[in-house]
Formats: sequence, C-alpha cells, structure tokens
Amino acid sequence: MLNLVLFGPPGSGKGTQSAKLIEKYQLVHLSTGDILRAEIKAQTPLGIDAKTRIDKGELVPDEVVINMISNKLDQNHDAKGFIFDGFPRTTAQAEALDNLLKGKGTSISVMLALDVDDQELINRILLRGKDSGRADDQDLSIIENRIAIYNRETAVVADYYKAQGKLRLIHGVGSIDDIFASLCSSIENN
Ligand code: AMP
Repeated sequence: MLNLVLFGPPGSGKGTQSAKLIEKYQLVHLSTGDILRAEIKAQTPLGIDAKTRIDKGELVPDEVVINMISNKLDQNHDAKGFIFDGFPRTTAQAEALDNLLKGKGTSISVMLALDVDDQELINRILLRGKDSGRADDQDLSIIENRIAIYNRETAVVADYYKAQGKLRLIHGVGSIDDIFASLCSSIENN
C-alpha cells in the first residue's frame, strides 16, 4: 500500500496537491478538515461541537479526529492506499495513526511536508476565503491563530516522521505542476 501524509501549514496547497496525487496514484483521500466541514453541514452533534473550535481556529480534540480516521479506514478495506491531508496534527494523532495502520498490517510510506512562508500562506488563505466562503479563511486574526497553532503544536509532527526516516521536505512555492512533480519524485524515489 502507498500511504502518504501530506503535511504543511494551512494554505500550503495540501488540498490542491491531494487532488492531483489521488488521480495519479488512485488513493483514498482522507481530509479531517473536509470531514469536519461535512459534519457541520449535516448539523451532526460532532459537527456542532467542532464548529465552535474551528471558528476560532483552534484544533478539535485528538480523540474526535482519531475516531473519524479509524471509521474511514474501516470503510475502505479495498483501498490501494490513503492520503492523509490535515491529519495528523499532533504527536498523539501521529502515534494513533501508526497504531491504526499497524492493526491493518500496513504503515505510513512517506510524509511529504510542504514548506511555504507565513505571508504567502495568509495571502493564499484570504484569496481562498473569497471563493469558498469559509468563515475561518476570511478573518485575519483566525488565520493568524491557525498558523500560530500550526507552529506551536503541529510542526513537531514532522520530527516524529523524521525520526522514522520518512520525512521529505518540499518547497511549496511555485507552479502547481512543478510542486506536483517534486512530490511525485519524492514518492517514487522513496
Ligand atoms: P483544514 O481544512 O485542514 O485547514 O482544517 C480546518 C479546521 O478543522 C482546523 O483549523 C481545525 O480546527 C480542524 N481540524 C482539521 N483537522 C484537524 C486535526 N487533524 N486535528 C484537530 N483539528 C483539526
């Protein structure tokens, strides 16, 4: 199985590149942000609870996203592999993911970490907010909070995969196709 973690701060291009990777490698896409937004739209108790945190740019609790991923893994027995987008965001989530995959006789193949400077992230997120209407993409203080939380709680997750020899750093500024080519070459030279 090819199991990828697509990593990087909000606005680093994970969603855009995921769409291209899924098409090329026929992977199942698991984005915790997308799943949470679907729960909010459907007004489930989980969604209603998560919305207050998402609206402030805070993380939802580890056990909530770990359960979501566990369910999705169970629902996709026949997958050729998975692309994890926006998950894991804490070391506890990374450990839980390793255990879940181990239970299924597989593991993470590689973590692809997109590197983009903070000002570029803010510009991209504000632009995306105009199109998508996402509330957490339209308010500068929420965006800054998300980037701060990334730097404080999420960036360390790269060290977890580095220790396993699985971290690949990708320069995330440039054309979508050039960045995609760098991602593919990291996957194939793995
Ligand atoms: P994203 O679309 O990945 O930027 O996620 C949007 C929001 O959903 C984040 O700002 C968090 O509030 C929440 N979220 C998404 N994935 C996670 C995760 N793995 N752990 C905790 N919170 C998450």
